Amino acid sequence: MLKLENISRSYKKTRALVDFSYEFGRGVYAVLGPNGSGKTTLFNIITGNLKPDSGTVALTSTGTRRIGFVPQYPGMYPDFTVAEMLDYTAKLVRAADGGAQIREVTGAFELGEYSGVRVRALSGGTRQRLAIAQAFIGSPELVVLDEPTAGLDPMQRILFKNYIRKKRDSAAILISTHIVSDVEDIADKIILLRRGKIAAEGSADGIRESFDGRCWELPRGTCAPDGAKQRAFGDGVRVISDECPAPGALKVRPELEDCYLAIFGEDGEQR
Ligand code: ADP
Repeated sequence: MLKLENISRSYKKTRALVDFSYEFGRGVYAVLGPNGSGKTTLFNIITGNLKPDSGTVALTSTGTRRIGFVPQYPGMYPDFTVAEMLDYTAKLVRAADGGAQIREVTGAFELGEYSGVRVRALSGGTRQRLAIAQAFIGSPELVVLDEPTAGLDPMQRILFKNYIRKKRDSAAILISTHIVSDVEDIADKIILLRRGKIAAEGSADGIRESFDGRCWELPRGTCAPDGAKQRAFGDGVRVISDECPAPGALKVRPELEDCYLAIFGEDGEQR
């Protein structure tokens, strides 16, 4: 449905995306990486808002609405009410059965109580839910959500995940985030992006398996060696290491967060 081939993009000396190739079909794809790893650049290129320096983006489409997009900072009309915003979107994308679609997203994102409220008066989380709801009106084949969970509280994150899960068979849904727990339960495929390149890719299980044998748990009271990639885990500490990091360390099955630590542990913010 969406095929990217050899996409590169730099800003002066910063190489934001480097020879990125990937093919997306229906399903949920998470692009996971720290700030500055190239996620927004990738999504802006996919949605046609930014031109790559080289490479091609091919979107094969059959329906009327091709792309639903929530940028990192969605712009909205502040004087429109929630109901007007949704109605406007349905008309703009010429949604067949717009009324039913508006009812669906209003229910899914619990926007009903805000129908008559102007956008300017909404909290950040409600505004974000409205932006996400709009992106799904018109049954787009490709939905691109740049950091959609930023500003959502835990209950709103659950609503979001439930809706994405429900829509996974009807569109290619691309979600960027730096929060592992936001996507590990809902993504069919995860792309870990590091300095503009794919560092790891696959199902959550596949990625976990590829780090098997490198994740250790230290017993309570044991310190990880200096400079080790480590994180607090329950009572003790988990360490990423090719070799046994300390006496008594137990090899354990990695979680996705361990894989994230293994890939990005030394990076800090990538600017
Ligand atoms: P992410 O979305 O993962 O935070 P971005 O795509 O925003 O990553 O940024 C990737 C890299 O490109 C970063 O090093 C960032 O500083 C740089 N960058 C992004 N946009 C611009 C811009 N308009 N001008 C200069 N550098 C930019």
